[in-house]
Amino acid sequence: MPDFPRSILEFQRQFPDEAACAAWLTAARWPEGFRCPVCGHDHAWELDTKAWTWECAKCHRQTSVTAGTVMHGSKVSLTVWFWAAYLMATHSNGISARQLGRQLGLGSYNAIAHLLILGGVGIGPDLASLRKFDSGISG
Ligand SMILES: [Zn+2]
Repeated sequence: MPDFPRSILEFQRQFPDEAACAAWLTAARWPEGFRCPVCGHDHAWELDTKAWTWECAKCHRQTSVTAGTVMHGSKVSLTVWFWAAYLMATHSNGISARQLGRQLGLGSYNAIAHLLILGGVGIGPDLASLRKFDSGISG
């Protein structure tokens, strides 16, 4: 698991944009390089047409770095999710969906609220724990 920042300054340096977040997710998901979830092949192309998505060179299955996570198909950007994870991980007394929505400037904070409801506030300081909030969440 790649390092996840523990201070705001570190966080800003490490995750300035969507690409930096996607790169972190890629490293977390495939620490030894890409591995196709269908056929196990280790060679893929990154697609230009779909963000943060790889196509297996053998079976052509397309896999997004966010597949299987609460972030997949979300209208909320990766940077916002990363901030949410950071804020949740660093608020020792917990943070409400309303507080989180306000801090992240989200008019609608549905997805964040879902995350809080499903995951509580006890997530560790790493985004891998977002994966367990997978099922049935959209938007
Ligand atoms: Zn494959």
